[in-house]
Amino acid sequence: MLTDLQIAIFGGDARQLEVIRKLTEQGANLVLVGFDQLDHGFTGASKMDIGEVDFSRLDCIVLPVNGTGPNGEIDTIFSNKSIVLTSAHLKKTPKHCHVYSGITNAYLNGIIAESGRGHTQLFERDDVAIYNSIPTVEGTLMMVIQNTDTTIHKSNTVVLGFGRVGMSVARAFAALGAKVKVGARKPEHIARISEMGFIPFHLDHLKKEVIDTDVCINTVPFQIVTSDIISKMPTHTLIIDLASKPGGTDFKYAEKRGIKALLAPGLPGIVAPKTAGQILGNVLSQLMQVEMVNRKGKA
Ligand code: NAP
Repeated sequence: MLTDLQIAIFGGDARQLEVIRKLTEQGANLVLVGFDQLDHGFTGASKMDIGEVDFSRLDCIVLPVNGTGPNGEIDTIFSNKSIVLTSAHLKKTPKHCHVYSGITNAYLNGIIAESGRGHTQLFERDDVAIYNSIPTVEGTLMMVIQNTDTTIHKSNTVVLGFGRVGMSVARAFAALGAKVKVGARKPEHIARISEMGFIPFHLDHLKKEVIDTDVCINTVPFQIVTSDIISKMPTHTLIIDLASKPGGTDFKYAEKRGIKALLAPGLPGIVAPKTAGQILGNVLSQLMQVEMVNRKGKA
């Protein structure tokens, strides 16, 4: 249980509602900032403007998945008010106050460093990334179905990268009957790709591997689907780029060649916000309980 914990939840999207639900179920006291247009109320949670928050009482701060914008602005779909988090806010919190976000950026890293508070990026954790790959794959299937006039079954599908997302994508497309080739660079990845029944290739040979591709799904967060590669693809190829912004594709060149290339960020929040929020809520509640136990041990 998280009884007696004071947590501020800052903005976000529908995923944050599941986080709020989970934390209030656990008995935490929540302050909700950026939720003034949310009709629904939660027992144990009060809506506030950022100026009304008593930062000196906060044990934890939960930011939206993207953390903050480049100047500290907090995205929220539940308010039109501007919310900006600064290092001055964080400095007012007790020393043990911990900040949680999905990912981070230079601004957030800067104010965390200035304030000396702890910070966890949830999406860096393997468990979160693996659970999150499930709605990501479902969103990818949706995008491919919406943007092709042929079946996934029997399609030549190339998956680039064999990490948490790439492995799940390859398995789902193969299960639907696609002929799946997977490009990676580590010998152990090549071995695992082969063991799982997909066709492996080294990313150094990408140029010759795309000549008969129907669907290319990129998970490598690095410019990999370059103009040189795109020029070798059939014009009907659909590229879905899952890698974090700006993706790994030369979108301008793809457009010039008449190849449809789509950057598809944040699929879990789009196709399954409830599941994606539950994934975050469960992990947050576990982490906060560990934090509480550790703090009591030190007291
Ligand atoms: P991951 O487990 O770290 O996998 C990344 C893969 O890319 C690994 O196979 C890695 O290979 C490869 N890679 C990285 N840099 C490379 C380079 N310079 N050259 C060649 N290969 C390289 O990451 P993940 O969890 O699968 O996520 C992949 C991407 O998808 C991330 O950008 C993540 O933010 C994004 N994502 C997007 C969504 C969405 O909705 N669109 C959802 C979840 C995640 P090595 O092991 O050899 O480095």
